[in-house]
Amino acid sequence: MLNVVIFGPPGSGKGTQSERIIENFGLTHISTGDILRKEICAGSDLGKLAKSLIDKGQLVPDETIIEILEKKLDTLNNTKGVIFDGFPRTVDQAAALKKMLNSRGQDVNIMLNLEVDREELIDRLLKRGQVSGRSDDNLETIEQRIKVYEKQTAPVIDFYKSEGIYHPIKGTGEIDAIFSRIAEAISALA
Ligand code: ADP
Repeated sequence: MLNVVIFGPPGSGKGTQSERIIENFGLTHISTGDILRKEICAGSDLGKLAKSLIDKGQLVPDETIIEILEKKLDTLNNTKGVIFDGFPRTVDQAAALKKMLNSRGQDVNIMLNLEVDREELIDRLLKRGQVSGRSDDNLETIEQRIKVYEKQTAPVIDFYKSEGIYHPIKGTGEIDAIFSRIAEAISALA
């Protein structure tokens, strides 16, 4: 099993690069943002809670997101591995993920941190907002999401540094060039 965490601030290209990783390495994609957006569309209680928080640029509570993950992992069979996109977003989520995988005889094999500076993030997300229709891609919410990232999510970097599986990736330039750097890091594991 190959378990990859794709990490980075909002707008760093996690979703875009996940698509290429899936195509090239045959992994299963788990995006907590996509799962929450589906719940919002379905109008479920979880969706209602998620919408109220996402629109403010805040995180969904750890217990809720960890429960979602646990259920999702139980539905997987016959997979080569998973790419975790948008999770973990807090140190508690990272510790919970380790526990969940360890209890299944697995672990995270590599954490890829897409590094992009703040100005470019805002620029990309504002552009995406013009086509995505995502209610959180507006300047006020984007700034809040980046703040939440810096305070609650960035500490996850140290967690994976201490696990010895941290890989920073330059997240700017051509999409293909970024993917080449990612592919090289993943291939080096085998
Ligand atoms: P982005 O990385 O562009 O911000 P995502 O689609 O990953 O977008 O997430 C959108 C929103 O969904 C987040 O701002 C947050 O409110 C919520 N969310 C997604 N994943 C998590 C998570 N692991 N923990 C808490 N909240 C989450």
